[in-house]
Amino acid sequence: MTPQALTVLGSTGSIGVSTLDIVARHPGKFRIFALSAHRQTEKLAAQCLAFRPRFAVVADAVHAADLGSRLQGCPTEILYGAQALDDIASADETDGVMCAIVGAAGLPSALAAAKAGKTIYLANKETLVVAGSLFMETARRNNAKVLPVDSEHNAIYQVLPAGYTGNLERHGIRSIILTASGGPFLDTDLADFAHITPQQAVKHPNWSMGRKISVDSATMMNKGLELIEAHWLFDCPPDKLEAVIHPQSVIHSMVRYLDGSVLAQLGTPDMRTPIAYCLGLPERIESGVSELDFATLSSLTFRRPDTVRFPCLKLAYEAMCEGGSAPCTLNAANEEAVSAFLSGKIRFTDIAATVAHCLAQNRSNACGSLADLLAQDTQTRISARKYITDLTKA
Ligand code: NAD
Ligand code: MG
Repeated sequence: MTPQALTVLGSTGSIGVSTLDIVARHPGKFRIFALSAHRQTEKLAAQCLAFRPRFAVVADAVHAADLGSRLQGCPTEILYGAQALDDIASADETDGVMCAIVGAAGLPSALAAAKAGKTIYLANKETLVVAGSLFMETARRNNAKVLPVDSEHNAIYQVLPAGYTGNLERHGIRSIILTASGGPFLDTDLADFAHITPQQAVKHPNWSMGRKISVDSATMMNKGLELIEAHWLFDCPPDKLEAVIHPQSVIHSMVRYLDGSVLAQLGTPDMRTPIAYCLGLPERIESGVSELDFATLSSLTFRRPDTVRFPCLKLAYEAMCEGGSAPCTLNAANEEAVSAFLSGKIRFTDIAATVAHCLAQNRSNACGSLADLLAQDTQTRISARKYITDLTKA
């Protein structure tokens, strides 16, 4: 069998590294066609030397030169810029594309892969938050297969009935239930929220992830983004989506059926499981993930999310119900606020305040095209930065 040629967008990140770990475990099954990292040239150079891709893509000419100096004698061709990301995502020579860039920056290349009819391993949830309708429609029109890498959506994908075509009722489904760990501040005194530091916020109790998604998990914006992601992936109306806190992160999500059955997918919290599931389909392949040990698993607990503690979850739910450009606004404001929080400019509680401000300021409109969405994204970032500057002056 010829190995599947893969493009890994965001190969130096948490998901990218886990993807390459799976690839390395299955020599002969996969080969790396292209890798991309933004500015992490040292890590990318090591990956190029190990996997010998045809192309490596970085942010700009300066980083391309730096990467070049580290890859003397390696046949990998170095490219840079946004168009190069689209090119490696849509090249004829690639079969599957792992979309693991963080943030809305991952949208254009994911869309390019959809246009080119590729098999898309979608980790970048922001693609669906910003452009759910456009992305899913583009994938449908071009016969691109979209496989969810995000652990909750991967779990749901695994427990949906075979041949699920996007109509809950027809398939006897009552609702889709996303589990959430609740992050590191589930039991923190609310009075202490304003003093939460970036170091505390990026320390997730169960998962090892990039900094942005770790902060999103701490505010529970991550679950809000994931509700929107599930809405588009599974054609699920907002009122049929539930979120439940499950601090152990053993049940990765569930589907509730009309007959009272609830089907769940369980596993050790390690992203290599959903990645291996997607890459291996239709087979199950080894992932290196340690097995769940039921002898030591003492309890699985659940509770309702508290939207006073986690206002971002409510903001995301409302943006999903509003539709149009509201989720794009939500996402752009959140990216700006998380970045300002991580660099010590604003408090943890200012993240939700920034998002709420931007949603109130930018009325939702029917953003259809990529250009419309990118304009909305830019506009929101301008108002978010202004709000953040005013906050820091106050
Ligand atoms: P990360 O920060 O660890 O890595 C991000 C990658 O994207 C890096 O390779 C980086 O070089 C690249 N990158 C950063 N900014 C870029 C830009 N402007 N243009 C091009 N490339 C850029 O992130 P991560 O935790 O691996 O998450 C990646 C995506 O997967 C996110 O959308 C996240 O929500 C999603 N996801 C992650 C996890 C997880 O466990 N880490 C789980 C589910 C979903
Ligand atoms: Mg997730």
